[in-house]
Amino acid sequence: MTTKNNSLSNKTGNWRTHRPEINHQKCIGCSLCAKICPEACIEMKNHKAFVDDDYCKGCALCAHECPVKAIEMKEDF
Ligand code: SF4
Ligand code: SF4
Repeated sequence: MTTKNNSLSNKTGNWRTHRPEINHQKCIGCSLCAKICPEACIEMKNHKAFVDDDYCKGCALCAHECPVKAIEMKEDF
């Protein structure tokens, strides 16, 4: 049984069109993006956010929520 969000069954395929890019100079470490991410694939390290691209679905919720606009969605081919 796979219950964790980062289970193998939840790994993102090659259909994703966009992925978030985090500007760590702008990131203030509030962790809102990590809390809002439906895939739970944003991890906080030393008060900075990092995305696990293997599981990110490109929904852009994190970019929408970031209070300092540190997350930009980039095309993902
Ligand atoms: S784009 Fe969506 S799935 Fe990817 S890190 Fe942001 S909130 Fe999570
Ligand atoms: S929401 Fe923005 S400022 Fe807050 S941790 Fe995420 S990237 Fe950093």
